[in-house]
Amino acid sequence: MPELPEVETTVRGLAKVLQYRRLASVEARRPDLRRALPVDLGQRLTGARVSGLRRRAKYGLIDTDRGDTLVFHLGMSGHWRVDPGAIGKHDHFILQTDDGRVVALNDARRFGSLDLVATDELEDWPPFKALGPEPLDLDPRELQRRLAGRTAAIKLLLLDQRIVAGLGNIYVCEALYRAGIHPKRAGGSVSLRRLERLVRAIRDVLGEAIAAGGSTLKDFASPDGELGYFSKAFAVYDREGRPCGCGGTVRRFVQGGRSTFYCPRCQR
Ligand SMILES: [Zn+2]
Repeated sequence: MPELPEVETTVRGLAKVLQYRRLASVEARRPDLRRALPVDLGQRLTGARVSGLRRRAKYGLIDTDRGDTLVFHLGMSGHWRVDPGAIGKHDHFILQTDDGRVVALNDARRFGSLDLVATDELEDWPPFKALGPEPLDLDPRELQRRLAGRTAAIKLLLLDQRIVAGLGNIYVCEALYRAGIHPKRAGGSVSLRRLERLVRAIRDVLGEAIAAGGSTLKDFASPDGELGYFSKAFAVYDREGRPCGCGGTVRRFVQGGRSTFYCPRCQR
């Protein structure tokens, strides 16, 4: 499943092709992905100029000069293909620019989504309304306020999009390991000093993954068609029974229906 670094990498890759270009043609090749596509998608986007690309949580945002923002989510298997030689069965949405470049949203499992939202109403758009701050801009005191009094496990609280937006299982496991925090520790009991370490760890693991071009998990490919390779660098994720640098062993347990990987010696 594409995580925040893959979405960030995708947005940067798409920007190389779409930024400031006019959309010469827009083709939705089916009426829905996870949910129905806006019926007037083609009409509202055709002829518009792309004024900017950015990311919010795990959503990619393509702003146009008509005051609309195309919001995409990659779901489980979605990825954009740049200048595909031939259009494939799973290329469900295709944009062509005024200089002849083509990008196709390919999504075999169709858990992704496409929405068109008025740019100045994005903050109130239901999926965005309750989102917490971006993990790359997180302030430790803000995180402390959000965790205050919470007795739930820090791991589960970090996965709650209302507390921090866009953090997924892999990067939460890795960040808690780097910060030396036990995944079951009550969120409200983590000191500010340790939250400062955690915020730095979150920024580092995400930053390294973005730099490496996203992970290779499942069938993600960056828009340039290059596979990332960050997964080799995971310290605990998917490493049950393997040694930790401390001489201990990485353990796994299920927490909120998801696997948590951690080192019992390093994390308290
Ligand atoms: Zn260890």
